[in-house]
Amino acid sequence: MRSKLASQPFVQSMVWQLRVRCVQHDKGCGWQGQLGTEMRELKAHDAACQFKEATCLACNVKCRVKDMPDHHRSCPHRQFGIAHG
Ligand SMILES: [Zn+2]
Ligand SMILES: [Zn+2]
Repeated sequence: MRSKLASQPFVQSMVWQLRVRCVQHDKGCGWQGQLGTEMRELKAHDAACQFKEATCLACNVKCRVKDMPDHHRSCPHRQFGIAHG
């Protein structure tokens, strides 16, 4: 006689869902934290997230933080950065 152990695959997917994803995940950020890491780490990541949208102070164009250096090279209003004026 064998006892039937109920296998519960859904438990794993539940654990997966408990992961915290970056709010920019739909923009391509792959950062994930486990639920235990909590908001503190999420906020720390959010502050440094390269996929966050930033606004160019010179021309008000919005682009991702990671793309901002590229934008700055082609920005039509190069007033940002060092010693403008
Ligand atoms: Zn992120
Ligand atoms: Zn710009």
